[in-house]
Order: sequence, then C-alpha cells, then structure tokens
Amino acid sequence: MGSGLARIVSLWAAGLALGASVAVASAGQCPGNPDALGTSRTIVVDPREHIRIGTMDYAETLPLLDREVVLTFDDGPIPPYTGKVLDILAAECVKATYFIVGTMAKEYPALVRRAYDEGHTIGTHSMTHPFRFRALSVERANAQIDDGIAATAAALGDPDRLAPFFRFPGFGHTRPAHEHAASRGLMVWGADVPADDWHKLGPREVARRAVQRLEYKGKGILLLHDIHQRTVDALPLILKELKERGFRVVHVVPANAERAPSVTTAEAWLPHSRPKPAAPLIRVAALQDLDADILMKKSAEELCSLTPPHEAVHRAAGRGRARMAGIAHAELGHAKVGQVKARQAKVANVAPTTSMPDAHAAQ
Ligand SMILES: [Zn+2]
Repeated sequence: MGSGLARIVSLWAAGLALGASVAVASAGQCPGNPDALGTSRTIVVDPREHIRIGTMDYAETLPLLDREVVLTFDDGPIPPYTGKVLDILAAECVKATYFIVGTMAKEYPALVRRAYDEGHTIGTHSMTHPFRFRALSVERANAQIDDGIAATAAALGDPDRLAPFFRFPGFGHTRPAHEHAASRGLMVWGADVPADDWHKLGPREVARRAVQRLEYKGKGILLLHDIHQRTVDALPLILKELKERGFRVVHVVPANAERAPSVTTAEAWLPHSRPKPAAPLIRVAALQDLDADILMKKSAEELCSLTPPHEAVHRAAGRGRARMAGIAHAELGHAKVGQVKARQAKVANVAPTTSMPDAHAAQ
C-alpha cells in the first residue's frame, strides 16, 4: 500500500442488496404519526419446517436481517397493561407476536380479540403458566399445551385465527413436550434477546437492557411481558431507541392455505449466518498526502470534514481491519459517519484505492 495515498474519510452504506428485499415502512402509512417506527416487513413462516427458534435455547432463529427486531409479549392478556401496550404499538404501527396464557384468555377474551383485530399474531404460552413446567408429568405438560391452545382459540372465536406458535413458560421445555408440540404442528419460540422486564427494574433499565442486547446481537426476537407497568413504561423508550438506531420491526405470521412461506435459505435460519460482504466498502473521499498513522489519530469528524478533491470507492483489504459498529451499520445502510469512532477504526491497512463511479457498483 502506498504510504502517500490518502485513505478513509467516510464510510459508505454497502448493504443495499440486502436492503432491497425489505419493504420499508412508509411513515406516512401510520395514521396520525408521520414519524412512526412502523413495521418494515412481514415474514411468513412454515412451523413444520422450522419447529424451534430462538438462540437462547435453540440452534435456529428467525431469518432476520441485521437490525431487524421481532417484538414478542408473553403472559397476558391482563388489564390495564395489555391495553396500554396495544395502544403504544398502534401509535407506532408496530405489529408484534403475543404468547397468551389460557387462563388469561378465558378471563379477558376481549383483549385477545383486540390484539388479533389490530393485526398482531396470537400464539400460546400454556394454560396456567406453571413456573416449573419441566417438573410436570408428560400428561400434564401436554394438557397445558393443549388447553392453552383451546382457551385462546375460544377467546378468538375461530381456531384459524390462532398461530401455531408456542412458547414454553420460563422456557421450561422437555423432550416429550417438544415432541408433543411437534406432533401438533407447533413452532416453538424461544427468544434471542431478553429485556428482564419480569425483574424489579425501572423502565429505563429495561429499555437499556433491551436495546443494548439488540445492539450486541444486531437483530433478534425480543422477549417482553405485557403484564407489568414497567414494560408499559419501557416500551415507548425501546421503540424510540430502535427507530433512532435504525432498527426495523418485522412481523411474523404463519403460512396457511392462502399464504405461502417467505422464501429463505436454510442458512438464514442459523445465527450469525448473514452473508457478509467480502469486506466493508469504504468511500475514499480524498486522495491526499496522509498516511495511515495520521488517519488513525484523527477523529471521525475530522476525517469526514476532509474535502474530497474527487471520490473513489474501494474495498478494505481485510474485514478484520474494519471491526467496528460504524462499519457494521454501513454495511446495512445505516452509517452515520459522524457516529463512527475513529479510534475503533482499524484503518491502517486498507487496500489501494480503485476509482469507481458509484459505491453500488461494487456490490
Ligand atoms: Zn411466561
């Protein structure tokens, strides 16, 4: 690499090929809230193909792209929290998946119907939510699963409205219970990211944990509970942060006679399997007499303010040299160059520049 060549000034969003498959929500599609987070796309899943998902317990998880989130709410419904959560989701035009407890559905069927009528997916979470599900006999465990389904279907008034999605209480699964769930065609949901909202935490801490863990994982199924005031209070904070950080909410629905499963690859269901670009694309905005050592000492702001005499695009020599959040964002089109921390950027060993008219051409 020639030492006289100037290097990096700004990062370029390189993940446009991935982004092209996403039907991005138009804020204008959310009545009364032009700044709504919205629901960016809907995934149709075949429960018989992928019977257990969620990296906290299972090998597979939903085929999400980076910075995609699926919101899930367990243990309800119960007033006033479920209604408040539904209000918050409606205000942001965000669709979620509910895992309903059978006894709660019996007690508050109107809330189950409301969640369904407002476009959310309704799954189940056992009949009485036994906290030691694993300790149940096979018969009792199976009855918990079956009765929860029956009670929730009854609340909905039509079993076809119920998604064949099931989440074990406390993730307390056993092999026989898994087998029973599979025999019923259920897709068992774990989760990827807990928010700890069942602990006695303040709403800010719940939101902080949710967002921080999503940032760490980059995407995933977020586990929440619509039975706590702290969750009601945390949810607007979470949604606001998700929007500001460029996360997108994905809605998941089951395949049926009218609705074919979304086309995915087997690899897309495995964690950490998203296709990575060979190396991050970096826009070289200036060819100046700067060497790598000098660039490493500059702040992101200083780098970005370099006025480009002309522009070029090039690929970093090794992906290990660009191991930072800013570049990860850039890969998916969320780069805010000003947020990039130059001290984290290993910009020393970038490849020689190759002039290209357009960053997209490098994809
Ligand atoms: Zn639960």
